[in-house]
Amino acid sequence: MGRKGCRSSFILTRMHSLPYITLYTVPGLVAAVLALLGWQRRYYRGGRSFSLMMSALSFWFICHGLAIAAPDVRSTLHWMTIQYGGIMLVAPAWLLFALAYSGQWWRTARWMRRGIFVLPMICYSLALTNDLHRLWWSSWALDEQRSYLYLTTVNGPIYWLHVGYSYGCIVAGLALLGYATLRLTKVQRYAARLVLIGALIPPLGNLSYLLGSSGNGSEDPTPFLLLIAGAMVFYAMLRYQAVDLEPMAEREVFRGLPDGVFVLDSSGMVASHNALAAQMLGVPAGRLVGRSLAEASQGSALAADLRELLRQPYEAQTQLASYEQQGQLYALEIRLRPLLASNGAATGTLLVLRDITERLQTERVRARHLSELELLNTLARAANSARATDELIRLMARTIAAQGWWDRVMVGTVGPDGSLQIIADSSSTQLSSEGQSADLQIFAELQSILTSQTTRLILLKEQREESPLSTLLRRADLPTLLVVPMIDQAQTLGLLALANHDERPVPTELVRLAETVGELMTDAIVRIKLYEELRRASELKSSFLATMSHELRTPLTSIIGYIEMLERGTYGQIADRIREPMGSVRHSSMTLLNLINDILDFSCMEAGFLRIDLQPVSATQVVTNVVAALRPLMEEKQLALEQLIEPDLPPVQANIARLEQVISNLLSNAIKFTPHGTITISALRYEQGLRISIADTGVGIAPSDHEEIFKEFRRIESRQSRKVGGTGLGLAISRRLMSLMHGTLTLESSLGAGATFHCDLRLAVLDSAQPATVMEAISDH
Ligand code: ADP
Repeated sequence: MGRKGCRSSFILTRMHSLPYITLYTVPGLVAAVLALLGWQRRYYRGGRSFSLMMSALSFWFICHGLAIAAPDVRSTLHWMTIQYGGIMLVAPAWLLFALAYSGQWWRTARWMRRGIFVLPMICYSLALTNDLHRLWWSSWALDEQRSYLYLTTVNGPIYWLHVGYSYGCIVAGLALLGYATLRLTKVQRYAARLVLIGALIPPLGNLSYLLGSSGNGSEDPTPFLLLIAGAMVFYAMLRYQAVDLEPMAEREVFRGLPDGVFVLDSSGMVASHNALAAQMLGVPAGRLVGRSLAEASQGSALAADLRELLRQPYEAQTQLASYEQQGQLYALEIRLRPLLASNGAATGTLLVLRDITERLQTERVRARHLSELELLNTLARAANSARATDELIRLMARTIAAQGWWDRVMVGTVGPDGSLQIIADSSSTQLSSEGQSADLQIFAELQSILTSQTTRLILLKEQREESPLSTLLRRADLPTLLVVPMIDQAQTLGLLALANHDERPVPTELVRLAETVGELMTDAIVRIKLYEELRRASELKSSFLATMSHELRTPLTSIIGYIEMLERGTYGQIADRIREPMGSVRHSSMTLLNLINDILDFSCMEAGFLRIDLQPVSATQVVTNVVAALRPLMEEKQLALEQLIEPDLPPVQANIARLEQVISNLLSNAIKFTPHGTITISALRYEQGLRISIADTGVGIAPSDHEEIFKEFRRIESRQSRKVGGTGLGLAISRRLMSLMHGTLTLESSLGAGATFHCDLRLAVLDSAQPATVMEAISDH
């Protein structure tokens, strides 16, 4: 380095120079080795600049050695000048090292780091060309005395500029390191202190050397001190390698992150970022550091979102951003986290960009599947409960349109004349008659192309040749049309047409869904048709039965009436021998009439015509009447009768004639199916109401038949049932009548152990103001 004052004086040992040459070349080689080792550690913090510093030092040593070894004064001077190349690089390299080591590297722009070397380069070139301008040394003199060579120089302004600049760099570097030691973690601080102490040695030594010698002193110790310092720094680098590994590891993690990361300083400048971040922004990686992110992101798809987020850079925020690139939709989640210093002051911002396109797509697919399921569920429920085809189709069309996948949903069915009729059209605007006829034309065209069972997706842009259909579609502004035929057993029932006003692509899943909906509709239409046919058949059967019974009952009633009149002698006395056959005729006619009455009741119930008036009825009265009517039959079969009638029974809510019909039916069954034994008839209070029970000791009913016998026209095949005859309608009618009177008819029995039928009835509400309730048999078949 230079000396204080205008003059500098160098002493160069010439005589016996070999040991002196060694004195410089050996440290020069050591410095070169350190430079090499530093280069090997170039990825550690400060590794490169350390290597540069040691290279410069090595150059200095070697040139100095060569100056000593030079054969003549001129060559000595030449090498003395050359060595400045090394001297001048040492201080800037040191500053770079300090920048890197203190973690401030990224705070300085690349041009600034490179610019550090500009002035030394200029100074060096001026030193080399000193003979031309004398700005480096204004004069110099060489004095050769015995074994020493004295070089005395008068320093020029550039020389002093160099000295000042070098010290400036050194001081700046020391300040950076000093500042860093205050902020670093404990282990980092030890290393930084060691570096700092090492770094202080050369300038202090140089200063003391400068201050202590007045002009013709000893050799300059600075390079040696620098070497010692370099060794210490290197030791610190080795010893505290972990310090450097940590940021390396951090950098690796940073680079390998699946997210894009930006670190912004307090003014919004990009301090650091990983490659993915630049890629997501679509900005070349080299152009971001040192620039404001808002400005650098201009032109990127995320510019607006980033600007919005960076408006409040000290508030943690998360924003979703989506953009389209080459027809593909991308979605990003941008998270902003303020970086706070230990004292809570905001020092910068961390921006994390996460690509959530895939997640979003998965979520969308899931949501779509869910709404597809919901749609199918709604449609299936509607299809199951529907009774009328048109109503169902309209409901289904509305439901599909509400999903929003299609702009227009139309459903047409084939009418009896074979032509398609539009049953539902989701078009919100009321179509004019012109529009309707256009739609009808479209349907007619569609029908003509519907020759197979396949669903068709008609895209107007793919229609190469102009056809009537394409003309119609163009006119109706329906460039996308999906036609799902509804076909059952090779018979076209109708079609479902789904249309869009634009040509957005129709995903295959949507086509498949439309097919499923079409199948659902087809099934529902078929089911409703069958249901309607069945209902019509049932109605026909019921009305036939009602008419027939009525036609039979009228003549039969008059037959019975005439016989009774004959028996009573209204037409004169009849011979005794005729009385018996006449009694048989009357009995058979009565049986026939009962049978017809049963059929009539049943068909009335089936057709929904039976009406019952409910009134307070005395159960005792009913039982007494029925028993009185059937007593002769019991006596005829020599069956014992027991009656258990609770005194003072309250009236029940019933219809006296119908209740008598039920009890009479049960009692006559008991008589029929009890060859001998006892029949017990009881009327007792039971729970909240009243129970009339008819128990017999007859053939009984197997539990498996308990429900069967209540079905119409069901009889249990046995010798006894064949003997007594019957239609199998009595119990079916009785149970329905009981339910019309808000009561129940139940059975307890087992085969061979007799049977007990219970009629449970509600008590009548005795309110004179209350009118009699009218119950109507509603057919549920
Ligand atoms: P029907 O008496 O005209 O055959 P019902 O509906 O009254 O028709 O009875 C249906 C069947 O239930 C009878 O055929 C008979 O097999 C059985 N059943 C009814 N009541 C009794 C009873 N008290 N004991 C045994 N079986 C009975």
